[in-house]
Amino acid sequence: MEKFSTSIPESILPSIFREAISISRRLGISRLWIDSLCIQQDSLEDWQDESSKMGQYYSNCFICIAATSSPNSSGSLNIDRNPKVPVIRTTGRDAQTGPFALVAIPSDTGLDIEHFVRIDDKHELTAKFPLMSRAWCMQERWLSPRTLHFCEREVIFECSTMTSCECGRVTEEIKHDGRAATLLFPSRSIIKDKHWKDIITEYSTRDLTYATDRLVALSGLAADVQNRHMYIYKDGDGDTGIPRYLAGLWREELGVYMSWFVGEALFVIKTEEEASNAKADKPTFRSKPADYLGPSWSWVSVLDPVSYPQSYAAETQFRLLTAHVSLASNNPFGRVREGCYLRLRGFVKETSWAVRRREGRREDLILRDIVGTQALDRENVRGIRLSLDCSLTDLGPGEQLSVLPLIQTQTKHWGLDSRVAERGPSWAKSCLVLRKADGASLPGLGNGNVYQRIGYTEYGSFQDGVRDKECNSYQEQDIVLM
Ligand SMILES: [Zn+2]
Repeated sequence: MEKFSTSIPESILPSIFREAISISRRLGISRLWIDSLCIQQDSLEDWQDESSKMGQYYSNCFICIAATSSPNSSGSLNIDRNPKVPVIRTTGRDAQTGPFALVAIPSDTGLDIEHFVRIDDKHELTAKFPLMSRAWCMQERWLSPRTLHFCEREVIFECSTMTSCECGRVTEEIKHDGRAATLLFPSRSIIKDKHWKDIITEYSTRDLTYATDRLVALSGLAADVQNRHMYIYKDGDGDTGIPRYLAGLWREELGVYMSWFVGEALFVIKTEEEASNAKADKPTFRSKPADYLGPSWSWVSVLDPVSYPQSYAAETQFRLLTAHVSLASNNPFGRVREGCYLRLRGFVKETSWAVRRREGRREDLILRDIVGTQALDRENVRGIRLSLDCSLTDLGPGEQLSVLPLIQTQTKHWGLDSRVAERGPSWAKSCLVLRKADGASLPGLGNGNVYQRIGYTEYGSFQDGVRDKECNSYQEQDIVLM
């Protein structure tokens, strides 16, 4: 270790590191950061310290060199160019900028080159651009002012104002892909609070070697979002004593950020046929992770990709009273320990539920009735789907499940239901599905009103079987969410 702090012989380094050194030198850059060399590999302390600064390293770098097509650190930055393609190289001197070197290849040779911009399929992306599927690399790319992607056939350059590649087609492909343009290439000004949902949706699809790194590998981006873009307090409520960052969610508009769900969008089930025609290839829900990754109300607590519903003009349906986040290190955006909770005041609705068993498929849990919300006697309604966060094996038939509305949105159309437009303005509610939890680990809070999130559901005033007006027999109550 001591010897290596003065010099490391290049010859003992993996070839990909030597290539990165050579590229840096050719760019006239004398300092290079390589995570696995610059962080002591066997020191938890050094790792915690450095991982919390990762965002700063990448934000303040001159350029980030990405081995985008390399499966691991034993890969290469070498590019497999077609040797038959004539390459024109020339050097010269510009009156303003000095000497330059120019390399030109005919543009039509790039027709069969693929770019990661338009690849939506996770497996394809992982196979062709492995770096793009790795969780740690998301913030590295988004925070770096410039990135050079070394892909299989060409180099792609990205900065906050442009993306360019050797074959010349990447810019064109971004233009035709709105999602990629804003989500994959967000300029600093685009990463604002509204986009946190997109960030999480994208991030949750990415792979991590250690699930416990889920918050840490995003912590640089979270810090950047807080420092640069969020929370211009209008009413001086910055001093509520409630942390702004709550285990992967933001306190402001918390209801919106808590409305994540695993898997497909939800719908009302009317007939058996409808139920079995619903997407057959649903993701398999994984079981609850053995390690505590975060509180049940955060997407951090599950291992599957999450999505968010559209939530324009959302009205929050609860009040946040207090929140506690047990940090595992001094990184406010880093890993959390058991004991995180929210205290909320909201309308907790009781519900009856049933398990729908289907031949050869995953079992569905459906809400047969959300008391006071959905009419009991409607024969044409079998229930409302709910999206479970994890597969549950310990749910007993007598167990009471509850529903907590998070946000209500005004909606003109929902999905493909054209009838909605005829019925005039309508509302939709995004809700958590809760079960009672043991609050013994939360001293002073275990008064019986402790719940754990197990899933997510939605209902709207325009769905058959749902009352147009909310039943007002419910009283607000204070609950603790673990
Ligand atoms: Zn290209």
